[in-house]
Amino acid sequence: MNSMQFIALVAMGVFAASARTTDLPNIRVLATGGTIAGAQASATGYAYRSGVYDVNSLLKAVPNLDRLAVITGEQVANIGSQNMNDEVWLQLAKRVNAVLAEPGADGVLITHGTDTLEETSYFLSLVTKSDKPVVMVGSMRPATAASADGPGNIYNGVAVVADPQATGKGTLVVLNDTIHYARNVMKTDTTSVQTFQSLNRGPAGVVHTGKVEWFEPMDKKQGKASEFSVDGLDMLPRVDVIYAHANMSADLIDATIKNGARGIVVAGVGDGNMTAPALDALTRAAKGGVVVVRSTRLASGLVLRNNEVNDDEKGFVASGELNPAKSRVLLQLGLTKTTDPVRIQQMFHEY
Ligand code: ASP
Repeated sequence: MNSMQFIALVAMGVFAASARTTDLPNIRVLATGGTIAGAQASATGYAYRSGVYDVNSLLKAVPNLDRLAVITGEQVANIGSQNMNDEVWLQLAKRVNAVLAEPGADGVLITHGTDTLEETSYFLSLVTKSDKPVVMVGSMRPATAASADGPGNIYNGVAVVADPQATGKGTLVVLNDTIHYARNVMKTDTTSVQTFQSLNRGPAGVVHTGKVEWFEPMDKKQGKASEFSVDGLDMLPRVDVIYAHANMSADLIDATIKNGARGIVVAGVGDGNMTAPALDALTRAAKGGVVVVRSTRLASGLVLRNNEVNDDEKGFVASGELNPAKSRVLLQLGLTKTTDPVRIQQMFHEY
């Protein structure tokens, strides 16, 4: 066969399948549970249990996945993500780093419940020591639902891991045809499949039936540029989130400190505000060495430093764009390095 005949056959698609097989990336799927692995008690009711199916059952339910990648599955946990905790985070992060350090591994896809997906993804984005892609997916409907969204999300998630431009983008979240940076994404609706949104900045891109389109790059530190590491860590400092409201007392703040919190994040009203008694209690806490971060209970907007509260005087940290859940993650990791609120404020600007 001469080269012209070869080119003609390639154009006709004759060699497409074999070329694809040899070029396919090796992707590891780490499963942790969630609705994506959930089963309904009855086909006509919405009640279901998270974390019922194992990783291989999830992968088998996705048509044509073998055309995108060579995939191997691993079960890290099988829980509803409302039960996610520091222990599983550390185990998962260490596993992600170990898999990505394997020369043959091209990237990782993680299946996870949606309730705490915004926290786990941000945590991983800060402690993953590789540029190889890490993508997280979940689903809003259980695997047994009439129009389960899990298989489509897994397919698109694998396509994003396999996309060369996903390299160096940190941990990404893919649901409902949309790609999000871990830092920006938030669950905004209790049941809708269009629940994940990057409200302050917009999504990282879109993915339709495996075709990926990227938007803006991420300018904050993550992945290899991050100073945080899980190496040698077997626990994280305790940080509690306290929700502000009208008539808020100091009681929960005092209880949190009594129970050993080293950091407190306030989900403040408006631009990170709270009642005078709460403010007094937090001022005392900060003077006593507890790091206090003012975030907001609102879904979008920045908490500005020294706006209605004098953060300089009180020794507080303003969360900027980070919502309470993400502020808690960054403060936990920040406290592994320092208790100085000035340095921690700097981290809230950089990450
Ligand atoms: N409660 C479930 C979980 O987070 C919800 C979901 O996955 O959509 O595991």
